[in-house]
Amino acid sequence: MTAAEIESYAQLIDGKQVQAASGESLSVIDPCNGEPFARIPSGGAEDVDRAVRAAQAALDGVWGKTAPVERSRIMQRWAQLIMEHFEELAALESRDTGKPLTAGRADITATARYFEFYAGAADKLHGQVIPYLDGYSVNVLRVPHGVTGHIIPWNYPAQQYARTVAAAIAVGNAAVVKPSEDACLSTIKISQLGVEAGLPAGALNVVTGLGEEAGAALSAHSGVSFISFTGSPEVGTLVQQAAARNHIGCTLELGGKSPQLVFADADLDMALPVVVKAIIQHAGQTCSAGSRVLVEQSIYDQFVGKIADAFSRLRVGTPEMDLDCGPLMNPTQRDKVIGFTKDAMDNGIPLLAEGALAEGLNPNGYWVKPALFGNVPRDHKLACEEVFGPVLSAIPFDGENDAIELANATDYGLVGAVWTSNGDRQQRVAKRMNCGQVFINNFGAGGGVELPFGGMKKSGHGREKGFLALEHMTTTKTVVHFHG
Ligand code: NAD
Repeated sequence: MTAAEIESYAQLIDGKQVQAASGESLSVIDPCNGEPFARIPSGGAEDVDRAVRAAQAALDGVWGKTAPVERSRIMQRWAQLIMEHFEELAALESRDTGKPLTAGRADITATARYFEFYAGAADKLHGQVIPYLDGYSVNVLRVPHGVTGHIIPWNYPAQQYARTVAAAIAVGNAAVVKPSEDACLSTIKISQLGVEAGLPAGALNVVTGLGEEAGAALSAHSGVSFISFTGSPEVGTLVQQAAARNHIGCTLELGGKSPQLVFADADLDMALPVVVKAIIQHAGQTCSAGSRVLVEQSIYDQFVGKIADAFSRLRVGTPEMDLDCGPLMNPTQRDKVIGFTKDAMDNGIPLLAEGALAEGLNPNGYWVKPALFGNVPRDHKLACEEVFGPVLSAIPFDGENDAIELANATDYGLVGAVWTSNGDRQQRVAKRMNCGQVFINNFGAGGGVELPFGGMKKSGHGREKGFLALEHMTTTKTVVHFHG
């Protein structure tokens, strides 16, 4: 691309589209060819400070007085505008992240759905009336935190943005968003649509830039009352430390090593495509990817053989080719995934099947073939650590107790699935799995908009999605009235 063809994007601060205070900008790279195709402002502490002040001013002004029903109407219009820009946003999301167009479209559908869902919830979050002593009335009000900070990763930029920002705005917070420097173009456009839908200046602000600059400044800012972070456990620790220094709460949505437990009595034909999709979706760059398939010994060879067949038919390509998956996000991610597979092969772990790259791909793209490894030793890092790539580890188990022990044997606890036709076992296993979501005879990476989502252990804490998110995005105020 020539310099003239590279589109420049702006931050959103106080209702205005602005460049970084420093005047600096960053290239946005196309993961299919390694070339820049857009520029974003390289925001930093000064931009974050302006955004937080604008958000506080909005709360002190029009936005703080906006009735829930009016917030709901703005969000309904916002959802409509997203759908009116559907193809443009889906293409942008796919271009930015490299994912197939079908996946980009699914992401924008879910994005609009978050705004619809929380538009419907905005005027339905009630407080409580507490019976107390004679002569008193006590109301527990649910109130917004104030200025909320939102730090977003690059794998599902639009969806991750929507699930946290829509909940925060619905209950009347003023948001400052720091999307990922690797992929944030859809979030910029969707934020502009929020202004078009009627959000007053300052109710929503977006500061783009590097994590260690803009992200760190947002997590440390004393004007922020709550932080929602989605990303890696390492950065999550830094964000939580910064939140602790300001004595504020935070939600951490971190990684995973999610297991699919397949028992001998499962409907294997039903399980097979779901097990494959759960790891291949967005080339495994999904926090809730089903990256471990744990299979009962008696059907291990049969079922893993079917997965191997399916893996050998997988194809990797550009968004326009719309194949099974696209490239990895950046060279660091690609090298990390290649490091895992090389280490597995060096340790003699059998590579059972590989997908293939489509013909004619640009060699500078961050391509990796999907890979299925079998009989992965339980203590090998391929069985325990998050790869964040299209690599599936198959491990046999022997009976229900062993299955559960194996399922719970990582530091993570985000999502899990159990495949069995035995109803008692479905419930027993679901109860004993240490994770935030359990699927029985199905698996939804991330699950539906209505379903509370979040981790246990190193996968984080707090819940997003569904009504539970609204509790996290608010706090309570107990009003005690003595009237005699
Ligand atoms: P990351 O932690 O590197 O970055 C996430 C965000 O944090 C980005 O916006 C980044 O700019 C920002 N950031 C980086 N350094 C920072 C700092 N010092 N202070 C504040 N912010 C900083 O993660 P990533 O590479 O974008 O995403 C991959 C990781 O995210 C994986 O581990 C994945 O499992 C996890 N993830 C989790 C979920 C979930 O819901 N549980 C969803 C998506 C991704």
